Amino acid sequence: MKTVDLIIPVYNEEEVIDLFHEKLSAALLDLPYVISIHYINDGSTDATAQKLAGLTVTDPRVQVVELSRNFGHQAALTAGLDRVYGDYVISLDGDGQHPPEMIPEMLKLAENGYDIVLTERQDSGSISAFKHWTSGMFYRLINRIGSTHITPGAADFRLLSQQVVQALREMPEYHRFLRGMVAWVGFKSVILPYTPPARMAGRSKYSLGKMLRLSMDAVFSFSLVPLYIGISLGVLMLLLALVEMIYVLSFWVTGNISNLAPGWSSLMFIILLVGGFLMISIGVIGVYIGYIFQEVKGRPVYLVREPADEADNNPAAD
Ligand code: UDP
Ligand code: MG
Repeated sequence: MKTVDLIIPVYNEEEVIDLFHEKLSAALLDLPYVISIHYINDGSTDATAQKLAGLTVTDPRVQVVELSRNFGHQAALTAGLDRVYGDYVISLDGDGQHPPEMIPEMLKLAENGYDIVLTERQDSGSISAFKHWTSGMFYRLINRIGSTHITPGAADFRLLSQQVVQALREMPEYHRFLRGMVAWVGFKSVILPYTPPARMAGRSKYSLGKMLRLSMDAVFSFSLVPLYIGISLGVLMLLLALVEMIYVLSFWVTGNISNLAPGWSSLMFIILLVGGFLMISIGVIGVYIGYIFQEVKGRPVYLVREPADEADNNPAAD
């Protein structure tokens, strides 16, 4: 029988875990695969760890990976991808918004030869108008300035073949936007639309800050266009300077130098404008240098906390 690994990142989901696991188990019933369920606890500060430990007792398919702190959704997904070797790997959110009932259909498509089964969120009432709007804007922007096409409304709910997971493991970049990385690796893919139900319980763990950081990671690691904005503005400034030179020269040629008012205000205006543009370009370059700096450091994207019993068995620790 083929093997399937499920990757489920969770952060402070004590209210939903049991309910979610029940729903997931129901969806997996009678599937002809050997299934492992990997919960990645992304540094939860509530009772999530205890709830997950309870699941490992009642369900032998469950494995838990504890990250040493909250590293974020993308890092938690990576922690899962790095340790699974099943034929098919499916990632989904632990709050019920990625309906587990779709898993059999995803597996069917995989059996039909697709390496990647993506899902596309059809917006419904359960998505706030703000999220709908910001998500729409974000995908329009990233697809305009980036060279990798990313499906609008793409979610981190997808099936990957082991070959694709292997490819993702070869991309050790620190700033991770998995939706883009999956689009970048290529392979044969298909898109399944779905309507997200409301969260089973609890609140979204994607704060505005986390959403902003994710979109920054996407823009700066999938596009060099922001870097070119500085260059374009620089060229524009040079053209303006040329126009001004011609303008001033025209006073000389026509002998009207006395009409050339010593314009302090216009001078200030130009200086401020140039200064502003320079600052913007330097800032954009700074962002890239910051990213290079972080990549060069080669820090791991996440760290795993060793479970207490394994640490006891570790001879190196004695
Ligand atoms: N999550 C995580 N780490 C974080 C934030 C979220 O592992 O720092 C998990 C969360 O528990 C959930 C999934 O990522 O299983 C998606 O988060 P959420 O449902 O809060 O995001 P939304 O659906 O509002 O975009
Ligand atoms: Mg959610």
